[in-house]
This record gives sequence, C-alpha cells and structure tokens, in this order.
Amino acid sequence: MPKSPRHPRDYPMPRPIQATIHTESLRHNLARMRRAAPDARAWGVVKANAYGHGIERAFEGLRGADGFALLDLQEAERVRALGWRGPILLLEGVFEPRDLELCSRLSLWHTVHCDEQIDMLAAHKTQLPHRVFLKMNSGMNRLGFAPHRYRAAWARLDALPQVDEITLMTHFSDADTARGIGHQARVFAETTRDLPGERTLGNSAAALRFGQEAAVRADWVRPGIAVYGSAPDFPEHDIAHWGLQPTMTLASRLIAVQQLRPGDTVGYGSSFTAEAPLRIGVVACGYADGYPRHGPTGTPVLVDGVRTRLVGRVSMDMVTVDLTPVPQAGFGSEATLWGRAANGAVLPIDEVARAAGTVGYELMCAVAPRVPFAVD
Ligand SMILES: *Cc1c(COP(=O)(O)O)cnc(C)c1O
Repeated sequence: MPKSPRHPRDYPMPRPIQATIHTESLRHNLARMRRAAPDARAWGVVKANAYGHGIERAFEGLRGADGFALLDLQEAERVRALGWRGPILLLEGVFEPRDLELCSRLSLWHTVHCDEQIDMLAAHKTQLPHRVFLKMNSGMNRLGFAPHRYRAAWARLDALPQVDEITLMTHFSDADTARGIGHQARVFAETTRDLPGERTLGNSAAALRFGQEAAVRADWVRPGIAVYGSAPDFPEHDIAHWGLQPTMTLASRLIAVQQLRPGDTVGYGSSFTAEAPLRIGVVACGYADGYPRHGPTGTPVLVDGVRTRLVGRVSMDMVTVDLTPVPQAGFGSEATLWGRAANGAVLPIDEVARAAGTVGYELMCAVAPRVPFAVD
C-alpha cells in the first residue's frame, strides 16, 4: 500500500503556492485565550474544518483544549478518529433523529435550541443519558429558546430519562462592537438565575473584551477565530494588540515580472494605470485559490517579506503586485498573501480581508482545494 504523504513536498508541486498551518502559533493563541478567561474551560472551536485549517492539521496545536466544538457530524467523527476521548459539542445540535444514535455511539454532547430537538430526544432510545447544552436566544435571534420559553424547555429536558446534565448556553451578537454584551448577559442572568448547571456564553470577542466579567468567565468559553490568528474586533484592535499570532500562511512565488511605462494598464478591465515607470510582479495565486477577488489595488501583500500592494484586478490564477519597495525581487521571489514570511514579517489576514470588504473568517475558510497544505 502506498504510504500517504504527510507533506506536500512529497508530491510533484503543480504550482508554487502553498498554505502552511503553524502548530506552535495555534498553541500560543489557545494559551492566550485561556489567559483571557482564566477560570473557564476552553472549547477549541473547530467547525468549518477548523476554520479552513483542516481538523487533522490543526489538532496537534489545539489538543490542549478542554473539548472540541463543531457542528458537522462527520467532523465529529474525524475528531474521534484522531483519538480524542474528551468532550465534543455539536453547536447546532442534531438535525434528524438518527443523529442522536451517533451522539450515543461517539458520546457527543449536543446543543438543544428548539422544541423539535427535544421531541427527537424524547423518542430516542439510549443506554447512556446525554449531556445537552440548552441554548437561549438572548437577542441574537438565530438559534435558541426565547427567554420566556427557556425555563419550560429546561423543565421538559430535565424530566427526560434520555438527558443527563443540562448546561446553560447563549451566544452574543455584538461582543466585537461598541454595543457589547450587557443587554444579552442581563437577560441570560435573569432568566437562568436559580437554574442549576454549568454556563457557557462567550466566543473569542467576548472572551478577549469581557473575559474578566463574571458573565463571560462562566464555566466554558468558546474561542474560535482568535485561536486562528485573527482579531475579532479588527480594525479597532489587531492581532498584535491581543498578543495573537497568524496560524495560517498563504504563500506563493513570482512567476513573471513586467516593466510598465507611464500609461500602461494592468490586467482585466485595465483597472490600474501606471502614472510613472513601474516594475510589477505576477504572483501565482488567484481567486481560484481562495484569494478574494474583490481585493482592490492597494491590498497589502509581502514580497520577500517586504510590504507592498496589489495593482489591478485579481485574476483566477494570478495577482499582480507593485515591486517598487523590493527592487531586487524577481522570478521565484517569495510572495506572502497573508501570514508569516520567511524573514519573519507578518501580514495579518485581517488586513487583506478588510481591503477586500470581508473578514478573516471568510478568507481562512475559503482556501481552495487545489492549494496544497503543509504543517509546521
Ligand atoms: C462559531 C462559534 C463560536 C466561535 O466564535 P468566534 O467568533 O470564532 O470565536 C462560539 N460559539 C458558537 C455557538 C459558535 O457557533
């Protein structure tokens, strides 16, 4: 049987592009999030294939978490297949009755956010009762029981032989903005005042910004994005401010250089015109690799670890960059689309996302399947 190569350098490389996952930085960021809410246990949130990092690739860096939270049952199976015997939480709970069999078999904890999920539990046959996380809609208006219906749901679950412990849960809509968490934290505290059970409230933004408040300290925090090296409240704060490190680098190389004369244009739609002589590099990375097509002229990029900018439109397989700050760069030079360059320079994914009108979450989740990954 051919052994499956762990590192893309074992393959012939089709193009000089690679995403690299930084194990030590995952570990660093997880430790940082623990310090933000020191009394709480920390879920490693690994939904969306560990925010695009790959569950298997991120696991080594995150195995210090107290549990893993996700929402895809196949991803839960993958975490168990890695040998993880600790807690796994399904953040959206089950979608159909047979999912409960998998919960029993893999001993998954699951969120209960609606009556239909309680109905399924009531009809489920299980030897071992389940640990459930009862979710309150405290203002997000996505998942959860409205406050006035929460206690009835709790009582109904508590009466079921299929249910063991009930943890109380909510989720904040504005932890990363000026509105903050107060309005929701108050509703949650009032509604749950004398209910027994552990509590879990905060995501990354809540833990970083309000981790010292009793409401967020709770028993479990649920950091995702910060662990993956993106500041949830960028641009108000960046990862340097929060002491976080990039955990994913998307890097490629220059595959061509062009010398523009004044008046020359670049790329589709001729959206960029050189005003003066300009040397540009062509990077083997485009939107078919997951680079955001809406990144305009000016979007930051590192060439040989030196900060410069995109010029012209992002193509399917290429972007073009201004080589003015790096006159020595040429064919084969390193281009860092986000993350860490060989010389140690950092380009936070948040800056690229911001320029393209999106957030770090979307970029890291969207690296295309054709991009080979490595782990360091
Ligand atoms: C995704 C998610 C988190 C993590 O949020 P971040 O903003 O990435 O820290 C926490 N809790 C729930 C319920 C989630 O769905």
